[in-house]
Amino acid sequence: MNDKLNNLSVGEAQACVLRYVPPGGSEAVPLEQSLGRVLTEDVRANRDLPPCDVSAMDGFAVRSNDLVGDDTVLTVIGDIKAGDRPRQAIASGQCARIMTGAPLPPGADAIVRVEDTQALSGARIGIAAPVKAGKDIRVQGEVMQNGETALAAGTEITPGAVGVLASLKRARVSVRRRPRVAILSSGDELEALDAPFDPERIPESNAYALMAQTQALGIEPVYLGIARDDPEELAGCLRQGLAHDVLLVSGGSSVGAHDHVRPTLEALGVTLHFWGVEMKPGHPVAFGTRDQHLVFALPGNPVSSMVCFEQFVLPALRAFMGHARLFRRTVTATLTQAVKHRPGRAEFVRVTLQRDANGRLTAASAGGQGSDNLCSMARADGLLILPEHCAGLAAGATARVQLFDGAGFEVASGFMEKMEETP
Ligand code: AMP
Ligand code: MG
Repeated sequence: MNDKLNNLSVGEAQACVLRYVPPGGSEAVPLEQSLGRVLTEDVRANRDLPPCDVSAMDGFAVRSNDLVGDDTVLTVIGDIKAGDRPRQAIASGQCARIMTGAPLPPGADAIVRVEDTQALSGARIGIAAPVKAGKDIRVQGEVMQNGETALAAGTEITPGAVGVLASLKRARVSVRRRPRVAILSSGDELEALDAPFDPERIPESNAYALMAQTQALGIEPVYLGIARDDPEELAGCLRQGLAHDVLLVSGGSSVGAHDHVRPTLEALGVTLHFWGVEMKPGHPVAFGTRDQHLVFALPGNPVSSMVCFEQFVLPALRAFMGHARLFRRTVTATLTQAVKHRPGRAEFVRVTLQRDANGRLTAASAGGQGSDNLCSMARADGLLILPEHCAGLAAGATARVQLFDGAGFEVASGFMEKMEETP
């Protein structure tokens, strides 16, 4: 084996994968289905927003020059609501009642809020204090100007962006397509979810966890089932998987007597770009391509396959879909306990996160760290990173933690009183 292919660092392996990710083509989708996708076109404003100077408040449109001293009295000459087109000019000593979003009438140059006025008899109001020209006016085009690029190609469509696109009357938008992802498990010992219970066998869980990780990125994967440790059966399943943009196969990727995945992939014309990454868990991961199709041979151990998905598959799928942010966000957290580590391989520790009384984020082990222990994976908020050169960390030291999806949410609101305990 060429040693450039073997035992890469996590960073080298990530860079290698990203070199081979083809850009997904684009497709038009209805606006309501565009959330989370990436725009492939610049979207320009087709009008000024707001379309003219409008009021930012419910109140009265006035001439600021009229309000020089205290206690000015003005005559109300009209009522303007959003969508009206006021033509009558406000003359000195006059004002108009105006609602939020309604166009400013000619002559007026400021808004006085209802709360700052006093209703008087005979369609008149009293205003106690002066107001500056421009007060509480939204200027024409201040949100966006006709012709300007409101959202550039490459923008990820957030709920706010959906609102912008609706304002621009874009019922359909052009976005990067999603990859077709196939997921295969391999191993004679595996018991399918719907197979009869057999205490001697190992329940197949990898494909389900990998499917969930894929779905969390907005991609609906295809499950190809379980291939037995038989080169011919395996070849048939892998051939089917290679028809997809991305194939994930777990198990059989190591050097055991029954690990046929790598030689079978090569026999099918897949070029392997690396196998073996200096990481724990996840060392036996391999990556290859055939034409523009990507194949990840993930380790069989359930946590290892999930951690390898996070490090290598996730950025590849996001790159395919056009995202600029390819990796999980990391935060710095303080360790509540010491973590042992021998320099050599980068290590990913399953941790839970909590905020302490001083507002600091703290990380504690989520439980047993065996690469078969899915329970600690299920509890974890993220993966604490021990870089390959690290010689262990003491309690109170800080480290980076890659956040899982659920860790984007908090128990406390920061505004509310403590939640009532449920009886
Ligand atoms: P392997 O890489 O095939 O040697 O598998 C390593 C370990 O992971 C073995 O104990 C397997 O039983 C287990 N394993 C492999 N594939 C799966 C799977 N799909 N679901 C659960 N465990 C698995
Ligand atoms: Mg196996």
